[in-house]
Amino acid sequence: VRPRTHQEDTVLVSPTLAINEEIARRRAQGRPVVALGFGEASLPVHPLLVDQLARHAAQGGYGEVAGASRLREAAAGYWSRRGVGTRAEEVVAGPGSKPLLYAVFEALGGPVLLPRPSWVSYAAQNEILGQRSVSVPTVEGEGGVPDPARLDSVARGLRDAGTPATAVLVTIPDNPTGTVAAPATVRELCRVAEEHDLVVISDEIYLDLVHDPDREVLTPSQVVPGRTITTTGLSKSLALGGWRIGVARIPDGLLSQVRGRVTSVASEIWSAPAHPVQLAAAWAFAEPADLTAHIALSSRLHGRVARAVAAVFRDAGAEVAEPSGAFYLYPDLEPLRDRLAGAGVTTSPGLARVLLDEHGIATLPGAAFGDAEDRLTLRVATPMLYGPSDDQRWAALEAEA
Ligand code: PLP
Repeated sequence: VRPRTHQEDTVLVSPTLAINEEIARRRAQGRPVVALGFGEASLPVHPLLVDQLARHAAQGGYGEVAGASRLREAAAGYWSRRGVGTRAEEVVAGPGSKPLLYAVFEALGGPVLLPRPSWVSYAAQNEILGQRSVSVPTVEGEGGVPDPARLDSVARGLRDAGTPATAVLVTIPDNPTGTVAAPATVRELCRVAEEHDLVVISDEIYLDLVHDPDREVLTPSQVVPGRTITTTGLSKSLALGGWRIGVARIPDGLLSQVRGRVTSVASEIWSAPAHPVQLAAAWAFAEPADLTAHIALSSRLHGRVARAVAAVFRDAGAEVAEPSGAFYLYPDLEPLRDRLAGAGVTTSPGLARVLLDEHGIATLPGAAFGDAEDRLTLRVATPMLYGPSDDQRWAALEAEA
């Protein structure tokens, strides 16, 4: 059986899958692996969230397609408190922000402009949809946001070729680089988006994990709220990836039709997210003080560990931007090219393989995030370093307090 649209080299045999399979194989053989590839928050679930979920477990109905009104209202409040006025009717809930992004890409059509490097699933989702994505390099040290000047020229080129881009995506803070774009860059990107009539898709899944609480952070949702679709969820800030819950803000006006289309996809694909999870998530999006404090501690822990690992890479001669959000690093090992070539390493998948084969350390090659294979970049996710048991992870969090 052959799947219909897959081009095997881009989706089925992605470096991500290859490494993950290799980790599973090694563990099955009882060989230790330090798994720094997967983007899992790896912190214990807060007990108050467990209570909330238990409280709503008897809610067995499907509920509304766009999400439970309690969750939509709570998410609207969450955004409004961040200066992005939102009505509950503008919110669509889904089983994670990932399927919501897929529905948004489907609704908009391509070509979509992505930052390079960027999270693996953006390009893969567009590939599955059979539509084009074009990646645009970011400003050095400001991952997740295409360099506005280059964005302008790529958008111009596509328009002149008769295939105008529909949207530009940004990730603030960013996966894979763990950096946070500067407000001036975000403002300029929004100006270019307006000039080319692009929808901005703002993936803010890591927004509550900016390490320095005093840092000024700006997202397109605040600058051009009427042309921005925002997605977020609880997978990263509250380590609830397995709960599968996310929300999208798709505002009235310009984007009303897109919201209608996303809701149609929701109704035909997932019907509604799990109802008890939605009700527990509604409680979390209302930001009770206990959770806010827990997220702040988690964020500090992510920052401290990421900075420590960055220092190890720098000592080894790699270049790495100072991590300022989420829990990732994106070391560039180009300065070590000659030495690595001596060991037969000339590509990022080769580098990831040597780290795994010879040192038992699993990372993801930069090629998985859209970088050229022969650029020696890696994505490293640090939470697996906090310890293998919940007790150890609580201790790590408590040490932050
Ligand atoms: N966006 C980015 C940049 C991510 O790294 C991830 C998860 O790895 C997601 C979205 C998906 O999160 P969710 O669990 O809400 O589907």
